[in-house]
Amino acid sequence: MSYLATRMSQEVNGVSKLHGEVSQGMFNKLWPGYLKEELFIGYVTNGVHHPTWTAPEWKAIYKELTGSINFDQTDRSLWEKLYNLEDKKVYEIKTGLKKSLFSNIRKRLQSDMIEKHVSPHTLLSISSHLNEKALTIGFARRFATYKRASLLFRDLDRLARIVNNPEKPVQFIYAGKAHPNDGGGKDLIKKVFEISQMPEFAGKVIFLENYDIELAKYLTRGVDIWLNTPTRPLEASGTSGEKAVMNGTIHFSVLDGWWVEGYRAFAGWALPKKRTYENQELQDDIDAETIYNMLEFEIVPAYYSFNKEGIPAEWVSLIKNTMVKIAPEFTMKRMIDDYFEKYYSKLFIRNKYLINNNFEKAKELAAWKKTMKDEWDNIEVLSYSFERAGENVYRSGHDYRAEIALDVKKIPKENVGVEFIVTHLGKNGEHEFVASEEFKLISSKSGKCLYRASLVPEKAGSFFYGIRIYPKHKDLPHKQDFYLLRWID
Ligand SMILES: *Cc1c(COP(=O)(O)O)cnc(C)c1O
Repeated sequence: MSYLATRMSQEVNGVSKLHGEVSQGMFNKLWPGYLKEELFIGYVTNGVHHPTWTAPEWKAIYKELTGSINFDQTDRSLWEKLYNLEDKKVYEIKTGLKKSLFSNIRKRLQSDMIEKHVSPHTLLSISSHLNEKALTIGFARRFATYKRASLLFRDLDRLARIVNNPEKPVQFIYAGKAHPNDGGGKDLIKKVFEISQMPEFAGKVIFLENYDIELAKYLTRGVDIWLNTPTRPLEASGTSGEKAVMNGTIHFSVLDGWWVEGYRAFAGWALPKKRTYENQELQDDIDAETIYNMLEFEIVPAYYSFNKEGIPAEWVSLIKNTMVKIAPEFTMKRMIDDYFEKYYSKLFIRNKYLINNNFEKAKELAAWKKTMKDEWDNIEVLSYSFERAGENVYRSGHDYRAEIALDVKKIPKENVGVEFIVTHLGKNGEHEFVASEEFKLISSKSGKCLYRASLVPEKAGSFFYGIRIYPKHKDLPHKQDFYLLRWID
């Protein structure tokens, strides 16, 4: 279906920068001869609707600071006013939101557990362990296996030590649903539930059923940290972390999806984007280990760093940074603006242009495409030369010259593009795009055209080059829109 949709669409975009890049790789086979980096596939990073996902308590603050409930979300200086808010006030709002989350959880647990015939003893134990003062970490989403919901359970002894630290307790709240046909996802839920019922995790690891938008609102607002641990690079964007940052809930995630763009130092935590291991089991181990270490040595101490007034100043600064530096970049407003600028406006204008005067331009373009298709293979290469360095090694700063002569026959010379492409070999032996440059038409006489280009490598090293011709027309939106391509060398 994606291939079909891609073939039928003029524009295609991923839903985050990384997803755009991953998509270029996934769809490269539709346009052989182009390197994935050259594809027209772009991105608009997903965002969330600020008024829907922001707690009323925060909305009141925005109203106070900006003078309006519907403040202009594109104006970064309005968000920055949050820095003027007293630490005490920030902390009060956040603890208040946690309180309402917990009373909601108590209600839910009661009905859930009674239905499941969980013993009153277990129920009481969970309920009484739920601690409003404790660092509370939320993990809630679809239980698709790539989201690795059970990553934290790889070393239960270590996890038990972290959550049961008497001075600095930590609790985890899980929620989610699996697709009915996703056995792996259902097994994950079972595992989380079983662990939540173990005595050492009673009230420390909590699983909530029936994850829906209402629960998502309570959770993203009420917890202290929002955790996301996807298998790289399978998280296209992710949005629940964006809902969290709107509410000063600090995000802790693998650098995947939106977080690649969202992460800022002193405004959240990240696990590296690059995999260390090919083997997924080993990767899961090292990721779990990294999370335990970061929790134990960095995150938990920051959360419990109370000053004389009983305010964790370091933590509050993380909250403020989250809301000022990250949240404004991931609103629906920013997303719509991006779509408008990158796509909608362009397509709207183009549509008018093509359909105007009974589809005049569309008909012209279609006729042109037909002629090009018929004539393209008649283009003849008369000669070409490229100043080569030995063994494909090029010196930086040197001017390497290329020349090519074509007989373009019946095709108007302005409709033939000639370019050279420079690549280098990546780790997997794949050609990676380095640069491209268009040849200049030097002279032409009855179809015979001479082109010249020169390349000055910015970096020395081992490169490959190729010469390519493609059809050119001012009304083509991009090269892949009309896929006729020929590599000369
Ligand atoms: C936001 C939301 C999601 C998506 O969560 P991700 O972490 O982005 O996968 C799923 N379900 C509900 C109910 C949500 O509110």
